[in-house]
Amino acid sequence: MAERTFDLIVIGEGITGLTAAGRAARRGHAVATCEAELFGGLVINVNELEGSPVAEQVSGVELASSLMQENAGLGVSSINERVVGIDADGTVLKVRTEAAMIKARAVIVASGARLRRLGIPGEAEFDHRGVSQCADCDGPMFQGEDVVVVGGGDSALQEALVLARFCRTVHLVHRGTGFRAQPHLVEQVNASDRIAIHWSTVAEAITGNQGVEKAHVRQTTDGTKDEIPCTGFFAYVGLVPNSGFLPREISRDADGAVVTDESLRTALAGVWAAGAVRAGYSGLLTDAVKEAEIAVAGALRRINS
Ligand code: NAP
Repeated sequence: MAERTFDLIVIGEGITGLTAAGRAARRGHAVATCEAELFGGLVINVNELEGSPVAEQVSGVELASSLMQENAGLGVSSINERVVGIDADGTVLKVRTEAAMIKARAVIVASGARLRRLGIPGEAEFDHRGVSQCADCDGPMFQGEDVVVVGGGDSALQEALVLARFCRTVHLVHRGTGFRAQPHLVEQVNASDRIAIHWSTVAEAITGNQGVEKAHVRQTTDGTKDEIPCTGFFAYVGLVPNSGFLPREISRDADGAVVTDESLRTALAGVWAAGAVRAGYSGLLTDAVKEAEIAVAGALRRINS
C-alpha cells in the first residue's frame, strides 16, 4: 500500500474543503485533499449561488472549479479516492483511503452532507424517471408540466423557484404550517403564481408507469388522502452528514453531524471539522468559508508547534 506524508489532509473537495486546503497551501504547507466523488460538493448542482463568497454572481461549478484551479497552482495534491478511516498513531494521523495510507500532522474533515431521501414507495423505483434532486439539471425536462417539491426549508423553496421557471405548476408539499427558509425566498414563493403550497401535507408514495404520474399525499390535520398528478418529484427534506467513515472517538450528534468545540476541534486530537458535516453549521456559504479559516488556523498551530 502506497504511503505519502503531508502537513495537512483535508477530507472533502466541497467549498469548505477547497477553501481550507488553499488557505493552508498559501502559507507554504504541504496539503492534500481527498474526494471520492466529483469536486464541488452540494453546490455543484446550483446554477445561481446565494450568498457566494466571491463578489460576482457565479454558479456552483464556476466557484468550485476556480478553487480547484487555484489549489492546483498552489501545489495542493488532489487525491480522488474514498476515505475509509482515520487512525491516530502518536502525534501522526493516518488517513486510510481505499487504495492508500496518507499521513499528516493535522486533518480537517470537510466531507459535507448529502440530500436526504424520503424513503417512500416509488422514490427509488422512479429515480431518474421523474424523481430527481437537481432542479437546475432536470428542470428543463419538465417544461409546461406539473411537479411536486417536498420540504419547507431553503433548499425546497430555492429549488421550487427554479422549477417555476419551467413548469406549469410546482406543488410545494410541506408537513408544517410555516416555512423555515430565508425571508426573501418565502416572499418570492408567496408571490409566484406557478407555486401551489400544500400545508400540513406529507407525501406517502409515488406511482406511475414508464415515469412518474402521481404523488400520493395525506393531510396531517384530518388524514384526508389525495393524489397530485405530476411528472416530476423533488424531495428537499434536509441533509445527511457524510460522517460514517469517521472513527468512534470523533463524537457525533443524533443526526450524525460531527460535534466540535468553538475552535472546530473534534474529540480526536489533530482533527478539525468544518462545514455541512459539522453540528451547528448555519448552511450559509459565507459561513463555510469562515469555518474553513477557523479550522485551518487551529490545524496550522498544531503543525507549527
Ligand atoms: P432543512 O433546513 O433541514 O429543512 C428541511 C425541510 O424538510 C424542513 O422544512 C422539514 O420540515 C422538512 N422535512 C424534513 N424531514 C421531512 C420528512 N421526512 N418529510 C417531510 N418533510 C420533511 O434542509 P435544507 O432546506 O436542505 O437546508 C439545509 C441547510 O442548507 C440549511 O442550513 C439551509 O439554510 C442551507 N441552505 C441554504 C441555501 C441558501 O443560502 N440559499 C440554500 C439551500 C440550503 P420541518 O420544517 O417541519 O422540520
